[in-house]
Amino acid sequence: MQDEDILVIRLGATCDLADVEEQQIYAGKVQGFANFGMFVQLNDRIKGLVHKSNMKTEHREKDPIIVKVRQIRPNGNIDLEEVQIQVYQVQNIEKKSTTIRINDLGTRVGKTVAIEGEVAQIKQTSGPTIFTIVDESGTQNVAAFVEAGVRAFPEVELNDIVKVVGEVMKRNNQLQIEAHVITALTGDDETAVRVRIDTALDARAEPEDIPLLVKSEVIESLRPEMKKIAKIVRKAVFTAQPIILRHHADADGICSAVAIEQAIIALIRESGADFDADYYLFKRAPSKAPFYEIEDITRDLDFSLKDHVRFGQKMPLVILTDNGSTEEDEPSYKIASVYDIPFAVIDHHHPDATIDKYLIAHVNPYHVGGDFGITAGMLGTEVARLINPKVEPLIRHLPAIAGVGDRSEAPERARYLALVRDQYSEDTCKNIALALDYEQFWLRFNDGREIVKDILNISGNITRHTKLVALLVEGANVMIEDQMSACMPHVVKRELPNGAKLFLIDVEIHAHKFTFPPPGKTSGEVHDRLCKANEGSPVVTIGFGPDFAVLRSRGVLMNIPRMVRELHVEIPGGGISGGGHLVVGSIKFVEGMRNTVLEALINKIGGAQVQK
Ligand code: MN
Repeated sequence: MQDEDILVIRLGATCDLADVEEQQIYAGKVQGFANFGMFVQLNDRIKGLVHKSNMKTEHREKDPIIVKVRQIRPNGNIDLEEVQIQVYQVQNIEKKSTTIRINDLGTRVGKTVAIEGEVAQIKQTSGPTIFTIVDESGTQNVAAFVEAGVRAFPEVELNDIVKVVGEVMKRNNQLQIEAHVITALTGDDETAVRVRIDTALDARAEPEDIPLLVKSEVIESLRPEMKKIAKIVRKAVFTAQPIILRHHADADGICSAVAIEQAIIALIRESGADFDADYYLFKRAPSKAPFYEIEDITRDLDFSLKDHVRFGQKMPLVILTDNGSTEEDEPSYKIASVYDIPFAVIDHHHPDATIDKYLIAHVNPYHVGGDFGITAGMLGTEVARLINPKVEPLIRHLPAIAGVGDRSEAPERARYLALVRDQYSEDTCKNIALALDYEQFWLRFNDGREIVKDILNISGNITRHTKLVALLVEGANVMIEDQMSACMPHVVKRELPNGAKLFLIDVEIHAHKFTFPPPGKTSGEVHDRLCKANEGSPVVTIGFGPDFAVLRSRGVLMNIPRMVRELHVEIPGGGISGGGHLVVGSIKFVEGMRNTVLEALINKIGGAQVQK
């Protein structure tokens, strides 16, 4: 054989032991020395030993060397001998790895594969670097190791399109790829993969067209926008974008958010992410005020930015429900827009048109001729079914609880109640709503994910659900009775020019403070009692403190947000803000202007039309 016919193999970075053949000649590199010989690397992952009896010349570390494989031992050790040839042909060998979809990885355990996708997260552990890769079919963690705690492939960045070649492993029942190489694609390669993934993801994220739980013209008209939000949420889940779900901290807001929470968590789990991904990719949080406060956005931003820096996460998608459609939310949206955080809103508060420029989607019954009677819990549950129809059995009773909790007078309330009548009577729904309000009072800013599931009978432990709700209702009622016995004797009555009966209660001095029920609910309870006592008459109740008032009304056609805006202009120095629903809302002012503001407010109420 002529020297020039001798073939020397150079193994690529992706090759492993399976690519090494006995009697074959390889190009290698001297790695180090021992008493009995020297170690030679055939690539970064494969090394063999040249026994000193098989060494032909002197070498130093990192010298190129040509070796022949004498033997591959059963334990994987490779015996080499040095060969000296001057003329030869080099053949580069790369691992033959076909590019496959992430959801096909399960059939390739132990094999070397290639996947292409977008880098959705880069997390440095004390061991390997974990890259989360997303393609059109799923999400996959890829471990890459150079040295403990050292970032592997530092040139690869978040949102890059990459090709990963590695071995499919099973760790703790979860698939993982141990990467040999991760290459960031550029130019046409990158564009082709990105377009392929985007197109497929877009189709995959499209929600199924399923009928509503009940007949409703208003909700049916909202279907396109509900589908839009469902698609945005599905896409966020499929691309491992964190989701923050914010909601008003009352029974309606909780029902809406919990329905969506169940849909999202189930979808995260289905999409093959980590066992705890539903904790780091999803967060539900109540907003204390009936809007998205600066305090809320500040917390959300603070955590998101830290997660972004610390765990290499994407910036979140924020969903607001039973909140988010009024001018009061604007300051927070402005802050969020600095960071390009996308917002989608599901709300039934009277929307201010100025808000829509901050939102990527907005479901609101007022947009299609409906009103607040279609509660956030009804809308949230329907959106949740579009996000993930499989969770329907868990959440189909939530709209009934929400409707009762928010005192909806829309025909849909009765339809949602009828849907679950077998298991949940109207009184049961009322009790669950009260239990939610009471528990949220103690939870304060926490979401109480698992406790709330028990209250809503989602955990599947009906004994615990029944016991817990009964106990919470009992506790709530004791405290409500206590509050009512203290404040009812102090209610002041006035007759208004329009025939409405006005009742005033100073909740600051005639009610217990910092306890349950808080001022808003206290005023609501007072109002309910007075409505009963004044059957047939229009009734307005104002519960006020030093710098706020809470309004409830029956049979008076008010527009609280508009009254607040007018008062803001009419009373300079009143420091007036507020809003809410048309007939249930609140107003804030400066303490020194209280009497002026309240009298002006009462004047407006007295001029409003009453229902005959
Ligand atoms: Mn509501």
